[in-house]
This record gives sequence, C-alpha cells and structure tokens, in this order.
Amino acid sequence: MRDDRGRVTGVIVEGGGVAREIAATMVIGADGVHSTVASRIGVEPYRVGRHKGGVIYTRASGLQNTGYHWHYAPGMSVGVIPTNDETLIFAATTSERFMRELRFDLAAGFDAIVGVTAPALAAALGAADRSPYRGFAGHLGILRPAWGPGWALVGDAGYFKDPITAHGITDALRDAELLARAVLRGTDAALAEYQEIRDRLSVGLFTITDEIASFAWDMPRLQALHKSLSEEMTREVLHVSSGGAESTTNGDAHGGARPSLQSNHGRSQSASQ
Ligand SMILES: Cc1cc2nc3c(=O)[nH]c(=O)nc-3n(C[C@H](O)[C@H](O)[C@H](O)COP(=O)(O)OP(=O)(O)OC[C@H]3O[C@@H](n4cnc5c(N)ncnc54)[C@H](O)[C@@H]3O)c2cc1C
Repeated sequence: MRDDRGRVTGVIVEGGGVAREIAATMVIGADGVHSTVASRIGVEPYRVGRHKGGVIYTRASGLQNTGYHWHYAPGMSVGVIPTNDETLIFAATTSERFMRELRFDLAAGFDAIVGVTAPALAAALGAADRSPYRGFAGHLGILRPAWGPGWALVGDAGYFKDPITAHGITDALRDAELLARAVLRGTDAALAEYQEIRDRLSVGLFTITDEIASFAWDMPRLQALHKSLSEEMTREVLHVSSGGAESTTNGDAHGGARPSLQSNHGRSQSASQ
C-alpha cells in the first residue's frame, strides 16, 4: 500500500481467499532473496555477483564432532558443520555442473564430490545415517537498496551472497541489529546510515565470496581469498562488538591495506589435490 506521494504505508496480506490491509509506518522485508516486498516495491539490485555455486547437502548422524572442516579440490568443495545432534555436510561445485550432471541424482552427485574432495570423510560417512539429500542450484549474489520511504529490507532480502562461505545468517543477524537501531532513531538519515554501514561491512565479503563461488581458483589463490575473508570477518566482529564505534573504512575490499590477522574463525581447510 502507498499514499499519494508514493510512500509505502502498509501491506495487503492474502490468505484463504481473504485479503486484509495492515497499515504500518515502516514495512520491513525480511522475506529472503526472492523478497516479495522488494519486488512489489520495485527495487532492483545495484550490485550483482558473477558466479554461483550448486550445493548438495545432507545431515549425517553418528560422526565424531571434530569441529568445522572445509575441504577443497579443483572445482569442488565440501563443508562439515557440526550441529547439536548431527553433522551438516555440503558438497559444492559450479552451478553449471550441478545443473548439467548432478541434479538428477543428488546422492550420486554428493558421493562423487565428497569422494574426490574429502576421501577420509567419504569413508567415515559409509555407515552413517543420512537425511534425504537437498539440492540448491545457485543464485547470484545481490545487494539491493536497503531502504526507501516507508520501507526497508534486511537479511537476504537486501543482501544475498553465495552460501559457499556459510556467512549469510551472521550477516542477516548483524543487519537486523543495525536496522533495529536505525528504526528506533526514526529518521531518513539513520536509515541511510544503515545502508552505508551494511555495504561497508558487506562489499568485501561479497566480492571474496563471489570469487570463491567461481571455483576457478587454484590453491594459492584460494588460500589468499580465505585470508582476506578472515580479515573481513574480523572487521565485522570488531564493528559489532564495539557497538558500531569501530571504523569500517580502514582498507580496501580485499583487505590489502589492513594488517593480516591470524584467526580463521575455527575453519580448518584441507586440499586433497
Ligand atoms: C544451500 C544454502 C546453504 C546455506 N548455508 C549457510 C550456512 O551454513 N551458514 C550461514 O550462515 N548461512 C547459510 N546460508 C545462507 C542463509 O540461509 C541465509 O543467509 C539466511 O537464512 C538469511 O536469513 P533471512 O531471514 O534473511 O532469509 P530466509 O532464511 O530466506 O527467511 C525468509 C523467510 O521469509 C518467508 N517469506 C518469504 N516470502 C514471504 C511472504 N510473501 N510472506 C511471508 N513470509 C515470507 C520465508 O518463508 C522465510 O521463512 C545458506 C543458504 C543456502 C541457500
């Protein structure tokens, strides 16, 4: 819903054959990368990634929890993410290969990638119970405008990047906090600052993730990308933990001007080839 000046004034919710108008001073689209709010408002992305990966994932039970592991081989990657009771394992490659070869038999596609990229994991998985496989064909990263008159976008609705760096939930929570503070301030300037900070904290992560999702790297380049990724994450943590006081403008998108930090956020990486 909009007023005669074009300001968004609420939403119309449809369900069970009934449409209901809900008036709002601010409509927030937290509705994912395919955001209905963004499309109804007519917001177009102003940054779009160039690469997207395809992912096959399952949850396995009975594996020993040895922490996060990221494995890489040319054109492929495997991630091991312990959860409360199970271990989430994803196998990723280019979206093109996923569409051409793997989507027709997700179990075989998963085994093919894990067998080459992480043979020891493949052996450990042999006897483990696995949940039904799920596939994700990929989606290019996007940055959409984060706000306008009467509306704002948060999480994947405003900023989506390839899941290969497994950082979307962190950024969605980060931006929910930033947006909540801006909404409480209640001014256009506060909302403009929300978008500015979101972008300053995100563009490096976005760019690095996009290159990792190309699967066109060799191991030295991949190592350099992860070093930069770690630096970007550290910058993000410093900003969040300082309540926003930490500068977000201290270097270029790939961290070239910043000191190299040793933390790799708990990721252990191995390359089988
Ligand atoms: C295959 C894959 C693996 C990933 N792995 C990781 C990972 O390991 N770690 C990580 O941090 N991130 C990961 N991500 C990214 C992460 O899932 C997202 O960044 C995160 O879920 C974004 O949260 P969100 O709330 O913005 O959007 P979403 O989680 O997409 O939630 C949007 C919600 O809005 C609802 N919705 C949509 N349209 C409407 C509508 N019209 N009306 C009402 N409700 C609506 C949807 O049903 C949904 O519940 C992964 C993503 C993918 C695709």
